[in-house]
Amino acid sequence: MNRLAILGFLSLFISGNDVFFDEIQDMGNNEISINFNVDKVSLVRSYSLEDPSRIVMEVNQSSLPTEINVPYNYPIKKVRASQDGSLTRIVVDLYESVHWQNPTQTINTENIKLELKVKRNKNLNKSIRDIVVAIDAGHGGKYPGAVGPNNILEKDVTLLIAKELERTLRDTYGYRPVMIRDGDETLDLNNRYLDARKYGADIFVSIHADGFRLSSVKGASVFIWSDEASSTVARNLSKKQRQRIQADIKNLKPVDFDEDAARQTYPEMYKKKISESKILGTKILDQLKRDPFTKIHKKNVEYADFRVLKSIDIPSVLVESGFITNPEDAQRLKGKPGRRMIARSVFLGIHNYFKDKPKANTFMSIDPGYVTYKIQKGDVLSEIAIRFGVTVEEINTENKLNNKPIYPGQLIKINI
Ligand SMILES: [Zn+2]
Repeated sequence: MNRLAILGFLSLFISGNDVFFDEIQDMGNNEISINFNVDKVSLVRSYSLEDPSRIVMEVNQSSLPTEINVPYNYPIKKVRASQDGSLTRIVVDLYESVHWQNPTQTINTENIKLELKVKRNKNLNKSIRDIVVAIDAGHGGKYPGAVGPNNILEKDVTLLIAKELERTLRDTYGYRPVMIRDGDETLDLNNRYLDARKYGADIFVSIHADGFRLSSVKGASVFIWSDEASSTVARNLSKKQRQRIQADIKNLKPVDFDEDAARQTYPEMYKKKISESKILGTKILDQLKRDPFTKIHKKNVEYADFRVLKSIDIPSVLVESGFITNPEDAQRLKGKPGRRMIARSVFLGIHNYFKDKPKANTFMSIDPGYVTYKIQKGDVLSEIAIRFGVTVEEINTENKLNNKPIYPGQLIKINI
């Protein structure tokens, strides 16, 4: 080992990221939580394998100071780990297939809790997990965002659209929404994408409503991140956020994952994320174009320097649902039907994205050809039909409902 290598090794050691086993907890209701401690929020890749059944978590740029070899009760055989270069590979050996969740990372006072949840499910013949969608309602708290006629605030509109989208995803089998904010909270820009990683998000969708000095400018648009914002509009919008971004960068804690540094370390991963974001953005834009209520501002996905989209591996898009400074758009976004159409376009865009390229280990990889929706209290078929972009007749036929009343908890198939 030459001197430089020793120095490199030392710096790695000093800024080390050790993985320790913590505990396995029976959560009741057939759910088990497997916990580890790490020093920093990490880039974690996870997947499940069969024959024999197991779940693997790969923690990048970490080390394993002590052996992990923990037997447990059914359905978990054993939890073990090994070191592979700068990667720590944790394996959960299983007796049978389970429904698992992408690992989450929570900041504790002294370290990070890395948690994997598994749930027994006798109906599964291979392990699957939910697709995690991070929904970011733009602005909030002391940042109202753009202001429209009659003091309609962007932060309120974005939260209502986000909640509408959350509702559809929550009650649709195989999806799990996580809200970056679910109230009128002040969040800095870094926390938005950092939280998406902590939740184990597969994709990140930020919801906004534009503002412009000319009230005649209207319509929806979709953005993805780029070093060089490609359009004048995008450049103008980015400028407004630049100062706040500079302030926010300083807020990065030592335990946080540094996306900017990681972009240099994993250039291929980042390149893939940009192209995936483009595909996702295009799918959402295609749906917005079909929405009879919404006009389109830019017919192609635009590039902008929006810091919230900066994750190196989580495909990220920003949807401007319209110009709140335009009276027509403001009217549309003020009403539930208008907001519902935006949420529906985003949902259908997301669903089409996963339909085209099913993620391994998710319900989409089984290709069911339909989604399963769980009827909620107060649901009516006509509203469900609007939310999924189908007709009441189609739902009736698909589920042989024969116009019988629906009831909470009932599972219906929707062909989309
Ligand atoms: Zn905004």
